[in-house]
Amino acid sequence: RGLKKYYEGEKLLFGKSKSVVKAVDNISFQVQRGETFSIVGESGCGKSTTGMCLLRLIDPTSGEIYFNREDALTLKNKELKGFRKDIQVIFQDPYSSLNPKHTVRSILREPYLIHKTFSNTEIDDQVHRLIELVGLDSSYLDRYPHEFSGGQRQRIGIARALALNPQLIVCDEPVSALDVSIQAQIINLLKELQQQLNLTYIFISHDLSVVEHISNRVVVMYLGKIVEMGTRDQIFNDPKHPYTQALLASIPIANPEHAEKKQRVIIKGDLPSPKNPPKGCHFYSRCPVKMEQCKDVYPEVKILPNQQQIACHLY
Ligand code: SF4
Ligand code: MG
Repeated sequence: RGLKKYYEGEKLLFGKSKSVVKAVDNISFQVQRGETFSIVGESGCGKSTTGMCLLRLIDPTSGEIYFNREDALTLKNKELKGFRKDIQVIFQDPYSSLNPKHTVRSILREPYLIHKTFSNTEIDDQVHRLIELVGLDSSYLDRYPHEFSGGQRQRIGIARALALNPQLIVCDEPVSALDVSIQAQIINLLKELQQQLNLTYIFISHDLSVVEHISNRVVVMYLGKIVEMGTRDQIFNDPKHPYTQALLASIPIANPEHAEKKQRVIIKGDLPSPKNPPKGCHFYSRCPVKMEQCKDVYPEVKILPNQQQIACHLY
């Protein structure tokens, strides 16, 4: 609630003022148990920073984070350790997130050793359970990450994330580094595991065609702000914000039904620098339907009767 993460930029030479990068700027949302809640936007929109704050890997500048109604930002010691078990992460790059010097077995044993939850024999059982859970088998355990394909490595990354029976997994671009043909397999695996283990996902991605397949609800971010939030159907069939419309127009059409409904809005120009976001609507410089008031007045998030949330003066 009201989450902000600001970074101080370089000091200016003869002045006191510093530039501030508002990576995440006052965003609020709620994630329901068992759902896949996706955060989408171009790179630099603040989606990974949001994920890192939720994981408590970085501290937000201000705002509140609650997990199971508990204030996650004040957790210490034992409670923090419990929180670290309950919330896990799958990173984008299965090439760099696995230690190349460790066998798969030792990678999968590590969470248990850190959290001291099981005896040695029990850990062995758990490691076998994990590797099978992600569609691999025990013959993989004594090999090293470089011996595997990208898809297999991401399966190992997923197995590691599952080790401590988490409730919530932050998936940060989990298939972006993979070949398109492998992406679908990993997405299907994530969906099966969600069903089987009653997992909740926060799914961070710039790729709307992936998001469409996995999400229950979607939030669209632009320059650190939420511009639109809704169910998957609302976002994909009836996007309201000019930025969401433009993002959708830029993805290849797999489903011809969508082609007719889709308005071809093309985003022109570059993403403005988050160092100096415009005073009014952040999308102003690229918006094809901008109006006079958009330049100076920031559109606050409004909740429409269908619960869709939108930050745009058109609504
Ligand atoms: Fe475009 Fe104005 Fe809406 Fe911003 S507030 S998206 S500039 S119409
Ligand atoms: Mg990122």
